Amino acid sequence: MKSGLSCSIVQDLLPNYVEKLTHAETDKAVEEHLESCKKCREVYKALSADVIAHKKSVPMKELNFLKKIKRTRLLAALLSIVLALTFSYLLYSSEYKYTSDKGVLSAAITD
Ligand SMILES: [Zn+2]
Repeated sequence: MKSGLSCSIVQDLLPNYVEKLTHAETDKAVEEHLESCKKCREVYKALSADVIAHKKSVPMKELNFLKKIKRTRLLAALLSIVLALTFSYLLYSSEYKYTSDKGVLSAAITD
């Protein structure tokens, strides 16, 4: 324990260290400890293998999930556009009918 960190502290820090979430100073202390401590080095190896395996499997899943969300959002956007168009068409056509009726009406009056 040249670095002054005990094995339990180093092993507590290792998950964050493996994920590169620790401060440079912490990294240095952990690295120093790992150099001199076989037990923690093994824990570190197991953890980093875990992280690598995790990183390999997760992004694909996340990507598919994001694609799914994107597709669903696109579908929802398209659907709302279609609905808005249909609605505005209905509104427009009924308005048009109304004004054309009025036009006919006023034409009938002026005649
Ligand atoms: Zn140790």
